[in-house]
Amino acid sequence: MTAHDRAPALLTVDLDAVVANWRAITARAPGAEAAAVVKADAYGLGAGPVARALEAAGCRTFFVATIDEGIDLREDLPDSRILVLGGPLPGTAADMAAHGLIPVLNSLEQVGQWVGLARASEQELEAALHLDTGMSRLGLDQAAVADLADNPAMLGGIRTTLVMSHMACADEPEHPKNREQLELFTHATRRLGVAARLSLAASSTVFLGPDYHFDLVRPGAALYGLNPVPGQPNPLTGVVRLEARILQVRDVDSPQTVGYGATHRFTGKTKVAVVAAGYADGLFRSLGNRGFGMIGGVRVPVVGRISMDLTTFDVSAVAPELARPGALIELIGDCHPADELAAEAGTIGYEVLTALGRRYHRTYLGDDA
Ligand SMILES: *Cc1c(COP(=O)(O)O)cnc(C)c1O
Repeated sequence: MTAHDRAPALLTVDLDAVVANWRAITARAPGAEAAAVVKADAYGLGAGPVARALEAAGCRTFFVATIDEGIDLREDLPDSRILVLGGPLPGTAADMAAHGLIPVLNSLEQVGQWVGLARASEQELEAALHLDTGMSRLGLDQAAVADLADNPAMLGGIRTTLVMSHMACADEPEHPKNREQLELFTHATRRLGVAARLSLAASSTVFLGPDYHFDLVRPGAALYGLNPVPGQPNPLTGVVRLEARILQVRDVDSPQTVGYGATHRFTGKTKVAVVAAGYADGLFRSLGNRGFGMIGGVRVPVVGRISMDLTTFDVSAVAPELARPGALIELIGDCHPADELAAEAGTIGYEVLTALGRRYHRTYLGDDA
């Protein structure tokens, strides 16, 4: 028996769909380079296979969050540009340079570190600068931008190839903060006066229109099929299918209950399917009595709490020959996308994908890179 056939739960990642989504973003932002954000192991889907597929399709710039993500990705992508969004932690600049990683410099301290390394190694070092325009998270504030503008020597030894910022409310097109951040970014990049390419757009920002595209767009979520325009039809293709096998089917009747805490009480004859995935696999406990799966085209509700390794579904509406041990219940797929499972859990698709467990048997479709 193959590992796939005996696995209790299966995660299928469609790399052709990832590439199609990258091309769709490229078409949405003509004139801009489409980079790929593959931090957090490509949002849980596997940074290596995802990045190799995108590189084979022509993507040349990749963003990760941490230096170690960058070092790992360098083995998959010997030639592409890899930028580290977090920038150098104290003492890590030399390691970053040694692996050919380009830091996103977020503060004057980080600028100082990179300048220090450039001096010590007597070479010009490439970097991106991140300006804060309203997230108040990472990035140079307006005072720091003014400092750099007035004292260009502070960037001595650095070749700044990208100046970027990040949007707070891009998934709400009518939010006034979008225009405010756009204006601040335009103003700050002029003030800074360095000759570099500009980047403001992550996934949702791409869909705010051409004013926001600049020279490079940095989608993550959209590549993985999450909807960048909540409330509207998803313009992208689904990438993830998650299925768990039924271990046992049982007939229950009132007054029985199911699972820890006895939170669901049966009111009549019910068929319950127990599948082999639980919160240890990233099925949030908040899905208890709230989530859904799909089997044979029928939507089946989670009944009772999610356990560590098990989840229980009411499959009364499913033909008995379909709801049997070994059969698969789809938890994420075209009929029940990650965004929908996320809404049932009270969270966003990003958290669902990045929480996908390590026990799933993974299959990559279109993996010929
Ligand atoms: C995570 C991240 C992105 C990608 O965001 P998505 O919404 O997933 O497209 C882009 N830029 C920065 C700075 C990020 O932190």
